[in-house]
Amino acid sequence: MAAPSISINSAAQVLRPPQDGLPYMRANRAAELRTDAGALSLTGGLIDGFEAAAGAQLQIDAEGCAVIPGFVDCHTHLPFAGWRADEYNLKVTGASYEQIAQAGGGIKSSAIALDQASDDEVIEQAQGLADEMLRHGTTTFETKSGYGMSVEGEMRALALAARLDQSVAQQTASTALLAHALPADYDVDGWMAEVALMAAQVAHERSASALDIYVESVAFDNEQLRKMGELAKQHGFDLRAHVEQFNTNRSVPVALEMGARSVDHLACLDPDDLPALAESECAAVLLPGAEFLGKEEVAPGRELADAGAITVIATDANPGTSPIVSMPLIIGLAVRRYGWTALEALLSATLNPAWLLRCSDVTGSLETGKRADVVILDGPIENIAYRFGHNPVAAVICGGELVHVREDWKEHVSGEL
Ligand SMILES: [Zn+2]
Repeated sequence: MAAPSISINSAAQVLRPPQDGLPYMRANRAAELRTDAGALSLTGGLIDGFEAAAGAQLQIDAEGCAVIPGFVDCHTHLPFAGWRADEYNLKVTGASYEQIAQAGGGIKSSAIALDQASDDEVIEQAQGLADEMLRHGTTTFETKSGYGMSVEGEMRALALAARLDQSVAQQTASTALLAHALPADYDVDGWMAEVALMAAQVAHERSASALDIYVESVAFDNEQLRKMGELAKQHGFDLRAHVEQFNTNRSVPVALEMGARSVDHLACLDPDDLPALAESECAAVLLPGAEFLGKEEVAPGRELADAGAITVIATDANPGTSPIVSMPLIIGLAVRRYGWTALEALLSATLNPAWLLRCSDVTGSLETGKRADVVILDGPIENIAYRFGHNPVAAVICGGELVHVREDWKEHVSGEL
């Protein structure tokens, strides 16, 4: 069924880049984003132009509203099984991440939960979360393996991610987080030998577009990061890395040397490593939900933006450190914690993560010819952060389909399909 023609009329703000065709924007240019009043017409699943279309099948009254591109959540750990609310109890009363991990909690408990859940159960939970993400404006998201903790488990996780892609409205991108925590039966070198074999298989099956590694005291180190970078180069994957979350390991220079597409977390980034990251073509992915719930250090978001980094924010949706799927909440946290403007946060939640996932040629900004991934907010863009905890998403169009209209907002939509 072809997507309907849609006209979004009389919006108070339409968020657009300063020019078409930008693959990303460095954060020190965020003020150049435009927020003029206007309209938007959508046809055949694509953005058709920036004028109202009287003949469109659906007419949407967006008076007083902002129209923005759908959010791109480029760092999630979907699909996973179950939750870890009991650990959160321990954490808020004083246990550290390392203590929880050493007590058999953390990633390993999610690995057991995944192992014990049926495929259908995993997909059902992930689909529910994808729906929740959609209602919060996310039209593209990333999936990761990493809770497999065995060769079979990791391959199953990637297969489940592919199945999830087929069963949700959003577009997804798959990352193979093959070095997340060390499985019990292996030493580091033994597991990295398995990782090398898996990387070759994943490349052959094309079941992921990026390799990822968790560099931390309880996980892997810079030597394995370098090895992962070599595997990425060898097989044509993007390299991503979880770095500098709880400790300063000086992983960023290694990641940059290996040509990483992104470095994620950065709460403990060494200030000496910031200028090179900011100048590089490597996204600085900040995860303020994990920082907040984990009482982590605050990543140097303001400094990265001022230095012109390709800044990105994401939910890090996972059952341990960040059980959050709402990008509006993440924007609210980023604005407050990093001292960012609404435009800096929005750029970091749309075009830049789309570039990171290699889809900014088709989504991530409102431009003629791009996919119609459009979110209508119930107020100005500044309200996303200001009305913290309120879901400002009134309607969501994903791939040209009107996939969500909030109950109290239905009278704004008229016309027939
Ligand atoms: Zn993560």
